[in-house]
Amino acid sequence: MAEAGNTERLSGPLRRLLELASPLPDFVDAYAVDEQGRVVQQWHTGSRRPFASRPIGHRSFVLPLHVGPEETRQVLVRLSSHDGLIPATPLLLMDDVSFLERTQGELMAYSLLYGGLLALLIYNLLTFIATRERAFLHSVLYLGAFLLFNFTLRGFGYQFLWPEWPRFNQQMLLLSAGLLYGALTLFSIDYLNLRQQAPRLARLFAWLTGLILLSVLPVFADRFAWVLRALVPLGIVYALLLLGTAIWLGHRRDSLARVFLVAWGGLLVGSVVYCLRLGGFVPYGIVSEYALELGAAFGFLLLAFGLACKISRLKRAKLAAERETYELQRSLSQQLETQVNERTQELEEANQRLAAMVRTDPLTGLLNRRQFETLLSEEILRHQRDDKPLLFAMMDIDDFKLFNDTYGHQAGDEVLIEVSKLLRAHFRRAGDRLFRLGGEEFGILLEADSLEAGQFALERFRHSLQQLQIPHKKSRHGVVTASFGLVCCSDYRQAPSAMALYRQADQAMYEAKELSRNRVVTRSLLEKA
Ligand code: GH3
Ligand code: MG
Ligand code: MG
Repeated sequence: MAEAGNTERLSGPLRRLLELASPLPDFVDAYAVDEQGRVVQQWHTGSRRPFASRPIGHRSFVLPLHVGPEETRQVLVRLSSHDGLIPATPLLLMDDVSFLERTQGELMAYSLLYGGLLALLIYNLLTFIATRERAFLHSVLYLGAFLLFNFTLRGFGYQFLWPEWPRFNQQMLLLSAGLLYGALTLFSIDYLNLRQQAPRLARLFAWLTGLILLSVLPVFADRFAWVLRALVPLGIVYALLLLGTAIWLGHRRDSLARVFLVAWGGLLVGSVVYCLRLGGFVPYGIVSEYALELGAAFGFLLLAFGLACKISRLKRAKLAAERETYELQRSLSQQLETQVNERTQELEEANQRLAAMVRTDPLTGLLNRRQFETLLSEEILRHQRDDKPLLFAMMDIDDFKLFNDTYGHQAGDEVLIEVSKLLRAHFRRAGDRLFRLGGEEFGILLEADSLEAGQFALERFRHSLQQLQIPHKKSRHGVVTASFGLVCCSDYRQAPSAMALYRQADQAMYEAKELSRNRVVTRSLLEKA
């Protein structure tokens, strides 16, 4: 009930505006009664009656009272609803000027809020199109659902978009509330990374959201009371669960969850204060009436910041993963390269060893018999080309069988090795070649200018061998000695075959054996020719 009095001394009637500052009441029936108890004005409007039933086109109900000079009016206002839910509706009495000023301020505030949220929505939509990052799409849905819900709740939808459809207006309010929960679930699960962090919780939210969406369905049968009876408790459980989740994740040092907690906390406080105001538990005032919008603006701004942080975190993680993959690939290919190099080197070494094994005698390391056969013919040809004398000597260790019999085969091998070492030490010219031809028999290709020079070199070696003093008690010298047969070829008119050269040297060597062993017998191939 409201009273309006015209105490100002004016000649004409005075107009006062009585605002029922809520767009929600279903039915508003108001009567202006004069001092005599007569109804002088009456209005029948409400959010379930067409918008045209309003005396002044405004999102809430504004009743113009005409009061004559010295008159008073009693205004009886009856609010009723089809479902028994009547919001606490403040009555504000003012003149046209105050109403205009108040409306302007309010419109400016809502324009700022809706414009800002719409800009954020469009920005997030474009960012989603550019990046295909799902979190942006979810925030677009969330912002869109909130805008729709608030635009309907505050009566703007009915005033500007669907003034002819009161029933649709009611349905829209609850449907958009359901959509808001759906979008919030999508956004939160993705933003908080719930599927990875707490899959059961993510499923619980999905179930709860499903129930909320189901509970909204009766709006299509105009059962708004049913919807509210289910939606309010479900919504409270949902809000507390989300709050708890954010606290729990924030406690686990998840900085994104902390941003979410503050944002969601702000939004929740705003909603709770507004609901208390609607229920009449908190008096009407700028803060209590617009707490919902204040909390939402704060929350959305903070969530936009959180989203940017999340994207940059995702980008960093992606970059780190890429770098790790690259490093792994690099180290793997490096490893592979080293392995291939090692294998190649090993193979080369093995090949070299194999080639050496094919060419050399394993015990002494001297060239083997096969090399002797191929090299000797080559050397004959080379010396023939250069017209240089070719010297070839055979050497055979004396009484070696006896040595083996006396000192053992092992000691015999050691002697063979010692003799080879001595050979190497003596014959080190570039053209010198040393062969083990078999058993205790050696071949020496000598680089020397004449038979005499060759003989001199062999004598020196023979002497050195004797000086080694390797004991051989069964031998007539008491130490290991050897016999030599040296041949020289300096006339190539009739180049000797390798076989002939070998045979000649062998014969000379046997001559040395026959004579007394431990000596050098020389032979010039010219002699025979
Ligand atoms: P000569 O003075 O007439 O050359 O007498 P010799 O005993 O040295 O000659 P003979 O041909 O009768 O014996 C050669 C011996 O050389 C027979 C064998 O026991 C020994 N011999 C051959 N090859 C090897 C070898 O690789 N290691 C050892 N330890 N002994 C070998
Ligand atoms: Mg011998
Ligand atoms: Mg022999």
